[in-house]
Amino acid sequence: MNDLLQSLRHELAALDAEGRLRPLAVLEGPQDAEVTIAGRRLVNLSSNNYLGLNTHPRLVEAAVAATRTWGVGSGAVRTIAGTQALHEELERRLAAFKGTEAALTLASGYAANLGVLGAVLDEPDAVVSDQLNHASIIDGIRLTRAHRYRYAHADLDDLEAQLAAARRDGCRRILVVTDGVFSMDGDIARLPGIVERAESAGAAVMVDDAHGSGVLGRAGRGTVDHFDLHGRVLIQVGTLSKAVGVLGGYVAGPLPVRTILVHAARPFLFSTSHPPAVVAACIAALEVMEAEPERQARLWVNARRFRAGLLALGFDCGRSETPITPVIVGEAGRAMALADALRERGVFAQGLGFPTVARDAGRVRTIVTASHTDEQLDRALEAFESAGRALGLLGAAAAAGP
Ligand SMILES: *Cc1c(COP(=O)(O)O)cnc(C)c1O
Repeated sequence: MNDLLQSLRHELAALDAEGRLRPLAVLEGPQDAEVTIAGRRLVNLSSNNYLGLNTHPRLVEAAVAATRTWGVGSGAVRTIAGTQALHEELERRLAAFKGTEAALTLASGYAANLGVLGAVLDEPDAVVSDQLNHASIIDGIRLTRAHRYRYAHADLDDLEAQLAAARRDGCRRILVVTDGVFSMDGDIARLPGIVERAESAGAAVMVDDAHGSGVLGRAGRGTVDHFDLHGRVLIQVGTLSKAVGVLGGYVAGPLPVRTILVHAARPFLFSTSHPPAVVAACIAALEVMEAEPERQARLWVNARRFRAGLLALGFDCGRSETPITPVIVGEAGRAMALADALRERGVFAQGLGFPTVARDAGRVRTIVTASHTDEQLDRALEAFESAGRALGLLGAAAAAGP
C-alpha cells in the first residue's frame, strides 16, 4: 500500500517538474459573469454557462419546488426503482427540442457518449471519428469492440477514405461521430459535407453537440438545426451541464435507439438517475431558452465583440467561429504564464497545453457568456493587452493596431 503511495508521489513530482500540476481554483460563490477567488472579483471566461442560466431564478425555483414535491434523490437506477414521471417529462421535451422521436437522459455528457457508443456498436461494426473529438467520445470508442477509423480534423476527403476502408473491411453498422462544435478551437463541424459522405457510404451520423446546444440553431437547438439537417443525423448527444446550466447528458434520436440504450447502455443500467431538482431545473431551462431568445442573441453579440477585440490586439484566435475563443500562444509554459498574468489582472481564464492540445498550440481558452456586460468584456480585453505586452506576446503589428 505504501509502495503505491510512494509511486504516486513520484508521479506527481514528475508532473510538477513539467509544470503540469495546477491547483483547482476555489470559487467562493456562484459561477457567474464574475467569480470570487481568494476574496477577489474576477471576470470569468472559464465556464460553459453560455446563457447564464445556472443562476436564473426560474431554474432555482423549479429545483426547490421539485425537491419539496419529489424528494432529494431518485432511489436507484431506473430499471430497478422505476422512473419518475419528471424524468420522462424532461425526455419528451428534449426530443421536441432536438426534433427527434425520443430522448434518454444519462448522468452526464460523458456518460451519454460512453453509453450510446457501447450500446449501438459491437465487434462487427465500425466507428469513424474526427481526430479532435472530445475525450468522452474517445473513451466511449475505446470501450466498444468496434473497428476504429480516425479521420484528420474536418477533412472530408479523409472521412471519405476512412468510410471506404470501413466498407472494404466488411463492417456491419458504420457510425460517423463528430463534435458539433469543437471544444478546444471553437470551430463548427462541417456537418452538411459529413452527412453527404456518410449517406453515400451507407453510414449513420452521430453529433455530440455539447458546445452547440444553446449556442447554434433556433432557440439553441444546436448544430443539426443550424444546418437544417433534421432527419439526416441519426443520433444527437447533448449535455445539460453547459448552456442548459445544470447537469446531465442525453441521447436524442429514433425510438429504437432510446430503447436499445434502456436495455444495453451500461451507464444507464448501472448508475442512478438524477435528483428531481436537477431534472426540474433542466425543464425550466428549456422553457427559458424558448421564452428568452435575447439571451442567445446577446451571447453572439458578446462573442463577436470579444473576439474582434482580441484580434485587434494582435492575438491568434485560431479557427474559432463560436463563443469558444482560444488565444493561441505556443508551448504550454507560455499559456500558463498568460493565464497567471490574466489572473493578476482580474481575469479568470484557463491555460491549456500539451497533451490537451498540440505541443505548439498551447492557449488560453476563453468563453464569454450572455451575462457578460460590455464593461466586463472591456476590462478583460485590457487585461489581455497588458498581460500580452508584459509577456512579449504582442508584436509590433499589434502595437500599430487600431
Ligand atoms: C463537455 C463535453 C462533454 C461532457 O459533458 P458533461 O456533461 O460535462 O459530462 C461531452 N462532449 C463534449 C463535446 C463536451 O464538450
